[in-house]
Amino acid sequence: MRFFLLYILAIFLILTVFTIAPAMDYSTTCTECHGKGKVTCRTCWGMGGQVDCPKCDGKGRIGNEYCSQCSGTKYVKCPDCHGTAKVTCPKCGGSGKGGPCGTSGR
Ligand SMILES: [Zn+2]
Ligand SMILES: [Zn+2]
Ligand SMILES: [Zn+2]
Repeated sequence: MRFFLLYILAIFLILTVFTIAPAMDYSTTCTECHGKGKVTCRTCWGMGGQVDCPKCDGKGRIGNEYCSQCSGTKYVKCPDCHGTAKVTCPKCGGSGKGGPCGTSGR
């Protein structure tokens, strides 16, 4: 009878471990954004949220006139990140959490 109780206890412990394990996996940090939920925008990589003005091709002038879109600054706000130089992490969808595929609803 004592052995039977130990057997039940063992099964209970194994079930507990298996129930907790996926939950721990789910709460791991996303490897892409390191838990920040945002990654550096690749459109303006190294430009700090700006891109070459598409109207004047980054020259700042059209003919002798200053470009109307960038006012001669040669750069405009990045359309992908709106000048923040960061975009929502595509891997975790901005949650900052990692884990196995499918558990985050994506
Ligand atoms: Zn321009
Ligand atoms: Zn950008
Ligand atoms: Zn991420």
